[in-house]
Amino acid sequence: MHKTTWVELSSEALRHNANIVRRLAPKAAILAMVKANGYGHGASWVAECLHQQVDGFAVARLSEAQQLRAKLTQKHIQARIVQLGTAVDAAVLQTCSAQQLDLIIHDLESAKLLAASALPQPITVWLKMNIGMNRLGMSATEFTQAHQLLSCQSHIADIHHMSHFSDAEDTDPSLTAQQSLRLSELSASLSTARHYPLSMANSAAIIAHPNCHYDWVRPGIMLYGDDPTQRLSAANALKPVMTFKAKVLAVRGVDASDGVGYNRRWRAKSNARIATVAAGYADGYPRHAPDGTPVLVNGLRAKVAGRVSMDLMTIDVSQLPQTAVGDEVTLWGEGLPAAEVGSHCGTISYELFTRITDRVERVYF
Ligand SMILES: *Cc1c(COP(=O)(O)O)cnc(C)c1O
Repeated sequence: MHKTTWVELSSEALRHNANIVRRLAPKAAILAMVKANGYGHGASWVAECLHQQVDGFAVARLSEAQQLRAKLTQKHIQARIVQLGTAVDAAVLQTCSAQQLDLIIHDLESAKLLAASALPQPITVWLKMNIGMNRLGMSATEFTQAHQLLSCQSHIADIHHMSHFSDAEDTDPSLTAQQSLRLSELSASLSTARHYPLSMANSAAIIAHPNCHYDWVRPGIMLYGDDPTQRLSAANALKPVMTFKAKVLAVRGVDASDGVGYNRRWRAKSNARIATVAAGYADGYPRHAPDGTPVLVNGLRAKVAGRVSMDLMTIDVSQLPQTAVGDEVTLWGEGLPAAEVGSHCGTISYELFTRITDRVERVYF
């Protein structure tokens, strides 16, 4: 098949990474984060690969939840699907109930609306507390009220208590420990009769804060192969799931002081060779990548030279004289961590992954 610009997605790497989560958090259930189309990897593909290894999936928008439910139903896969902070109204509640989508309730208004609703089937809710990020979530007082309002309703199948850390990748664990106590102590105080499942840990906390795993962990980026803490041991190393590749379309010599690309941002210091690659910002490669951002040509390192344009980018292959039209260039993934490319571009792997656009072919292994 004729391919110029594509991502390769490895189910083996994905399953490997899920096994690492399982190894690090052996007692916790796993809610795999597949928001933003599975961090750009394909939410339904991720769910199909992992549904036997994990205990549920979470997305950010109702449309994502509905699409995932439809795809999984087609494949006869039953799975818990949780919707993160969405705007809750009467219609959303009916849809969640009808399609068996768990809902995160992050404010008291939504809890009141839910308490007063008649639903076709009971639904499971995850009550969210604000423990310091100040983005979504209830205060301790609101959380307590919401819990009391919902815990006695027959249309609520179950209640989970959840929150989200602001600084889990910080090398100083004390803030995360404090934040974790805010919810765990409140949760314990709300009922002596039973324990409500608790969930706080994202990837960084799964890796760096084993005492904050509680009942459900919520790995995102680590499933896709990036360790946000950079502290995993070699024995638990993650594997990149996505490798972004493109072909060399042209190779040319340029003379000393010639410029390359728009505004000739890159200037040759001496005679150089430039390869033009079939990837640009319309494919999801960052336009603000500076000269010197690494790429791999046939497995060897070269550097971005010149401004990334919509469909094309240029790289300096003066040190790789065998480079030819048709060669494969890896923009990130196997052999070149997305986090490293991100650090050159002032961003993180999360953003690189989620910005891959539709015209980039997906090749699933
Ligand atoms: C995205 C998200 C996660 C996963 O975060 P990672 O850093 O990718 O592991 C966990 N919890 C919530 C609420 C999220 O929105």
